Amino acid sequence: MISRRTALTALGAGAAVAGTGVAAVAIASHDKPEPLAPPSTDNQGRVVWRNWSGIQHCYPQSRLAPTSAEGLAQILKTAQAPIRVVGAGHSFTALAVTPGTMISLDQMSGIVGWQGDNAIVQAGTRLGTLGPELAAKGRAMANLPDINKQSLGGALGTGTHGTGKTLTAIHGDVVALTLATPGGDLIDCDATREPDIFQAAKVSLGALGVITKATLRTTPNRRLHRHVWVEPLEQTLAEAESRWAKHRNYEFYAIPFTDMAACISHDETDLPARERANEQDDTILVALKGLRNLLGFSTTLRKAAGKALLSSAKPEEAVDEGWKLLSTDRPERFNEMEFHLPAENQLKALKEVIETIERERPDVFFPIEARRIAPDEAWLSPFQGGPHGSIAVHCHYRDEFAFLFELIQPILLRYGGRPHWGKLHNLQGRALEALYPKWNDFKALRQRLDPEGRMLNLYLKGLFNV
Ligand SMILES: Cc1cc2nc3c(=O)[nH]c(=O)nc-3n(C[C@H](O)[C@H](O)[C@H](O)COP(=O)(O)OP(=O)(O)OC[C@H]3O[C@@H](n4cnc5c(N)ncnc54)[C@H](O)[C@@H]3O)c2cc1C
Repeated sequence: MISRRTALTALGAGAAVAGTGVAAVAIASHDKPEPLAPPSTDNQGRVVWRNWSGIQHCYPQSRLAPTSAEGLAQILKTAQAPIRVVGAGHSFTALAVTPGTMISLDQMSGIVGWQGDNAIVQAGTRLGTLGPELAAKGRAMANLPDINKQSLGGALGTGTHGTGKTLTAIHGDVVALTLATPGGDLIDCDATREPDIFQAAKVSLGALGVITKATLRTTPNRRLHRHVWVEPLEQTLAEAESRWAKHRNYEFYAIPFTDMAACISHDETDLPARERANEQDDTILVALKGLRNLLGFSTTLRKAAGKALLSSAKPEEAVDEGWKLLSTDRPERFNEMEFHLPAENQLKALKEVIETIERERPDVFFPIEARRIAPDEAWLSPFQGGPHGSIAVHCHYRDEFAFLFELIQPILLRYGGRPHWGKLHNLQGRALEALYPKWNDFKALRQRLDPEGRMLNLYLKGLFNV
């Protein structure tokens, strides 16, 4: 979000407020202990699998990595249930957890064909490797999420998105896909062939089978002008709508306990390439964590120090091809809740979330992210039915996060929010049915494709009330 230079400047301001050297001591002395890691094997010698943030783990009986769609279909017919397909394991919920069979598509990666400007991409392809492959043909994905470590199948599976008022989530650019069903069939579908399966499978949490490949709409590989700046949160909120209308991609991070926000825009440009500074978002997070540790007892003092810290941040600019700029690294681990709200409710809900965190949770220091996403038609797309704005609350992986369910989720639900399928929420059955007009159609299709529920783990049984 903010470069090493900005962060170091900010740290300097922090030190000026806190007294040189004091902040570093405070950071070390107030950090929560490392969460206990699960044993690397269970009592039957099965090796542990963990998700990115470390809160989900399991000991699959078998792990398989097919090299072809036909091989995968054969596996699905015979493998021990529950069968779960995993991408990069970057979801926070227990979607991929299984004591049975875990399937990875890591060996089914890369572009396997073109239909005009649409690329046919194997579902195991990581978004980070797809960028250069598309660029070699002068093409690009229209948009990217914050990181590019996800597999295409995993990104589709949970409705993964970036930001941009006119840009859909990634599944909005899928024009056809092939689904390997639990019965071992390979179904090719699009808007006219098996249209119901197509609209259901685009965002299907790996519950209908496994997507083997998808045909993706691409755009010309244009250069983007990236602009990052920090300003008072009041200004950010006042200008948010006009900026979403103005910029190709725009998002902001409200930084709790500072009354400040970091804003990021991307716009197409013909300017010559201009390298991005060596960004280290972590450094600013360390500074914010230091402020929490040092001044968390007083919101007034923390805000004064936070404002001083961030006011000295200098804006940053870069120009490069979109696939090199839109995603960044997230080396600092966290747990996250993100809901997608009708666009008109986004800022009202965000203000309430910030007020609640500043009143109740002085331990929170991660910035709160706000993005805009265009609608699409997939049955379980959280963006179905009109433009949506997302609000994402992050907690450091060592910090307690139960308050997300108790304090934050009720606010986001009250404003009509739908949960990100890969991020923390505790909605199930009827609560989800109320949010999705096609929920029961999806359930009926799932029952038809997988009558024995072989793709369902405990978590999915809860979601679908099976
Ligand atoms: C640091 C970080 C940053 C993130 N940034 C964003 C962001 O900017 N925007 C956003 O929307 N999300 C974001 N996420 C969430 C992330 O994009 C999703 O959780 C995504 O699903 C992860 O992809 P994955 O390959 O790791 O999938 P996994 O987590 O491994 O799997 C996700 C789901 O997809 C299913 N699945 C995987 N492959 C297939 C397949 N071939 N066919 C059918 N189903 C399949 C799985 O069974 C599972 O249900 C972020 C997560 C992290 C940890």
